[in-house]
Amino acid sequence: MIGLGIESTAHTFSCAILEKKGKQGKILSDVRKIYRPPEGEGIHPREASRHHLENSAIVLSECLQEAGVTIKDLDIISYAAGPGLGPCLRVGAVVARSLASYYNIPIYPVNHALGHIELGKLLTGAKNPLVLLVSGGHTMILAFLNKQWRVFGETLDITLGQLLDQFGRSIGFASPCGKNIEDLASSTSNYILLPYSVKGNDVSFSGLLSATKSIVSKSKADACFSLQETAFAMMSEVVERALSFTRKKELLIVGGVAANKRLSEMLQDVCKRHGCKFFVAPQKYSGDCGSQICWTGLLESQVKKGVSLEDTFVTQSWRLDSVKVDY
Ligand code: AMP
Ligand code: MG
Repeated sequence: MIGLGIESTAHTFSCAILEKKGKQGKILSDVRKIYRPPEGEGIHPREASRHHLENSAIVLSECLQEAGVTIKDLDIISYAAGPGLGPCLRVGAVVARSLASYYNIPIYPVNHALGHIELGKLLTGAKNPLVLLVSGGHTMILAFLNKQWRVFGETLDITLGQLLDQFGRSIGFASPCGKNIEDLASSTSNYILLPYSVKGNDVSFSGLLSATKSIVSKSKADACFSLQETAFAMMSEVVERALSFTRKKELLIVGGVAANKRLSEMLQDVCKRHGCKFFVAPQKYSGDCGSQICWTGLLESQVKKGVSLEDTFVTQSWRLDSVKVDY
């Protein structure tokens, strides 16, 4: 089976082609163009969707060329139908619908968060992990039970990616800022006390964001270091509690923030204490990409014939824990 996956939920427009043989998946191509907002600003949905529209044709043709296939070779097309920014989601959906209807190819709407997890599992070999999904759009701890991903903790306000990006922009970095903050944080080990907010097994980051902004005048590096230490310690606490409760023997981190080395280091310590295997999605595929959507579509095609064009949709707030996973 050969699939095309289209990702356009937020900053990234990406097309990828994967081949599925039995349980094996091979990435034949994964092409991306990323919308970069002006320095100091966040994603403007209309501007991002304009970027996606302008780049969709070139990304699609490069992805087909790199994979060495034509549209007629495709067995299925999948697109990220949510959650995400409405104007951005619609671009991916329109491209997918146009190809599916003109070439008569089965079409699959895919949940973006599920895409992060399924590709993470494929690329790491994790079988039945507790999942930490940390990205621009999500901060969730998840475990799979009875055909659904169940939430064992999540953010009550902004996501971990938003915390890093909003703080980074306030000190002059261009979004996404996670890597800049990580680099600056690694130059110091001077911890300044910041508010630590875990409620039950959920986390809250907005107070931490304001407090970090208020200590920045002393040292940007100390502020970055203290922000990471506090936010990642909060995540480690809730992951540890979820591991104790679920008794999972694997932990998998996915999402753009999974690229952070300090986060992995802290969670590896947690895993050691619980005799748990540690997996992290490879950096190239931890952030948003078409491969995530393509692989999930290919998995769904094992049990579903796709949806009719009239039933295709986009949903800005499509929660992962409402998705039935039948494959
Ligand atoms: P995604 O929404 O999955 O594409 O993830 C994007 C998020 O990942 C943004 O908030 C980035 O700032 C964040 N990110 C990327 N690289 C790193 C890193 N090395 N450390 C922390 N956050 C990162
Ligand atoms: Mg994402």
